[in-house]
This record gives sequence, structure tokens and C-alpha cells, in this order.
Amino acid sequence: MKEFDYIIIGGGCAGLSLAYELEINKKLKDKTLAIIEPTTEYKKDKTWSFWKVTTHNFDDCVKKSWQNFSVNIPKKTNYLECSSYPYQSVDSGLFYEKINNKLKENKNISLFRDISEINSKNSFIFNSVPSIKKNYHNLWQHFCGVEIETQNNFFDDEIFNLMDFDCDQREGVHFFYTLPYSKTTALIETTWLSKMNDSSQKDYDSQIKDYIENHLNLKNYKITYKEGGAIPLFYPSYEIEKDKINIGTAGGMTRLSTGYTFLNIQEHSKYIRKNIENISTAKKFEISKKYQFLDDIFLRVLNENPEMMPDIFFKMFKSSPKTVIKFLSNKSNFLEDLSIILKMPKWTFIKALFN
Ligand SMILES: Cc1cc2nc3c(=O)[nH]c(=O)nc-3n(C[C@H](O)[C@H](O)[C@H](O)COP(=O)(O)OP(=O)(O)OC[C@H]3O[C@@H](n4cnc5c(N)ncnc54)[C@H](O)[C@@H]3O)c2cc1C
Repeated sequence: MKEFDYIIIGGGCAGLSLAYELEINKKLKDKTLAIIEPTTEYKKDKTWSFWKVTTHNFDDCVKKSWQNFSVNIPKKTNYLECSSYPYQSVDSGLFYEKINNKLKENKNISLFRDISEINSKNSFIFNSVPSIKKNYHNLWQHFCGVEIETQNNFFDDEIFNLMDFDCDQREGVHFFYTLPYSKTTALIETTWLSKMNDSSQKDYDSQIKDYIENHLNLKNYKITYKEGGAIPLFYPSYEIEKDKINIGTAGGMTRLSTGYTFLNIQEHSKYIRKNIENISTAKKFEISKKYQFLDDIFLRVLNENPEMMPDIFFKMFKSSPKTVIKFLSNKSNFLEDLSIILKMPKWTFIKALFN
């Protein structure tokens, strides 16, 4: 059976981002790479959005970018601007196409459906398949979104809505997220932060229908695309193995308080590429311990007091938008952290710290 210098298990966001980063930086000129991916056909299945706080390789896959956003709770809306760090939405269909076209050019890169097809004994492995045990005590961000098209101009495509908490909370944390791509098209997503043991939260289709028709008051529209999923708000467990690094969700690249993962994946790929010559001894790349600690307390508060969360998120955005964005994107300094922390209900957070 054939052997390879590197193996990437999972040709999704993290696996393909890493392969692309290595390829465009000529790290695969004299090295061989096998990508293991069971999917037979790549098609658009996700929309990856984030504040652009750092450069990445996929500006040409950005479907739309915004410089203004809003956050709201019943009867209150906060309008914010983000021109320093525009919010970008990457179309996964364009992302897969761009990367696969590039990788095809290099004969040192091969694709397989299953790892049993090759000899992996002497390879360095990058694994993006998380081992997640379904545990009802763990929190998840679970969601479903639809892209809709309206007959007439309806949306203001200059501003997106990050969180609309003016909806049924059902003992969880629930909000709607709207990305208007044009005056007649938008992605509308229903999002829950909860333990996922409550199936009553999963009637996503009727939640979305009700929001569009009764909250936005939009009757004439058609659904053109649908996506959904669940992001673990905990780190998958894994054993440290020689010559193996976990990447993507499996590698702890999700910011647990927000679910944002895409840009962390890009930063991890760059780190691996820079250290590829001595990757077995390189320091582990991770989201800074400061954010791991703060997110842990934040999720404990969320778990114990879901009813307080709309207000807490709303208050967080009372800080300068630049500060909040940097905080949520792992780029804040001590003073910026402090300004966010001081906006939080002190006793609730102190209690969570000692629980
Ligand atoms: C619908 C959706 C929307 C999201 N939106 C955002 C967003 O807006 N912003 C953001 O920052 N993050 C977002 N995320 C979170 C995160 O960015 C994505 O989940 C991202 O795809 C994670 O990349 P990954 O490579 O870890 O996992 P994936 O992209 O899921 O890739 C894993 C790959 O492994 C393959 N695989 C599975 N089993 C095996 C196996 N046994 N052997 C080999 N391969 C296997 C799968 O087919 C898949 O291609 C979203 C997640 C989802 C599900």
C-alpha cells in the first residue's frame, strides 16, 4: 500500500484550508499528501461568517461583507458599525471549488475515501474528525438557516442582524440571525444555545416560517437553500498521539462562547505551514488560555441562567463595537477585556466562578 509524508483526515474546512495553505506556500513540492474524505460530491453546505480581524486566503469566496450590524432584545435595538473589521460571509461552495481546483494541479496530492486504502504507519497525520460522545450535559450551538428570495425589494443589505432575541426562548437561549445578501435575498437562521436534550426546540422549520411571516411581516418569498448543524460548545476529548495533530473543530479551534471557528482554522493552518519542517516538536497551537477561562465562566452563567442571556449579550454590545469584536475574535488586550467584563452582572459571574 502507498505511503505518504502527510495525511489529512477529513477534507472539510480545516483539512482543505491546511492543504491549500501548504500547497500555495510550496510545502508540497517534494512531499506527498493524502486527503481522506468520504464525501463524493462537494457542494455548498455552510456559510462561514466572521469579523475580518486578520487576513485569510479566501477573500475571493466572500459572498458579502458588511460594515454595520444590529443586536436586539424586545423593544430595544443597538445599531453598531464595524468598518475596521468588516463582517464577511464565505460561501463554502466557492471555497471547495477554489481549493480542489488548486490541489488538482499537484501530482503529490492524492484523495482517498478511507484511510484503510493507504499505509499510514509512517506518516504525519492532521486529523479533523472529532471524537464526540453525545453527552446530554454538554452545551451546543444548534441551528438551521434558510436563504430566501423575495419578489420585491425588502431587505436593507447595508446592515445585518447578529442577534435578535425578540423570540420565544423556551427555557433555552434562542435568537435569530439575518444576513441580507441583497435587497431581495437573505440568510435567516434560528439559533439555540442549549443542551440539545429538549427536542421541543428543534422544530426549526416552523420557527423560521413564523419569524419570517409574523415577525418580519414578509409573505411573498421562496426558500432557495437550507443549511443546519450543531457546533459543540466544549472541546472534544482526545489522547495525545505522536505524529498526529488535531485540526478544526477536533483541534479545539471553536471559540466556545460564540461558535466562531473559521478564522481560527485559518490561523492554525498558517501556524502549521510555518512550522511544517519540525511539526512533531512544535508547540501546540490553541485559543489563548485567557479566552478558554473566560468562556468557561460565561458558559456556566449561560447554563445556570439562560433567561439572563439576551440581556447579557445586549449589554456586552454596549461597549465600543471594536472592543467587542476584538474580544469575540480573540484579539483583545487586557483593558478591552476589562471593559467587557465590567459590563457583565458581577454577582452572577462571581457565583459562577466559584461553582
Ligand atoms: C452549518 C454550519 C455553519 C457554520 N457557520 C460558521 C460561521 O458562520 N462561522 C464560523 O466561524 N464557524 C461556523 N461553523 C463552525 C465551523 O467553522 C464549521 O463547522 C467548520 O466546517 C469546521 O471545520 P472542520 O474541518 O473542523 O469540520 P468539517 O468542515 O465538518 O470537516 C470535517 C470533514 O471530515 C469528513 N469526515 C467525517 N467522517 C470522516 C471519517 N471517518 N474519515 C474521514 N473524513 C471524515 C466530513 O465529511 C467533513 O468533510 C459552522 C458550522 C456549521 C455546521
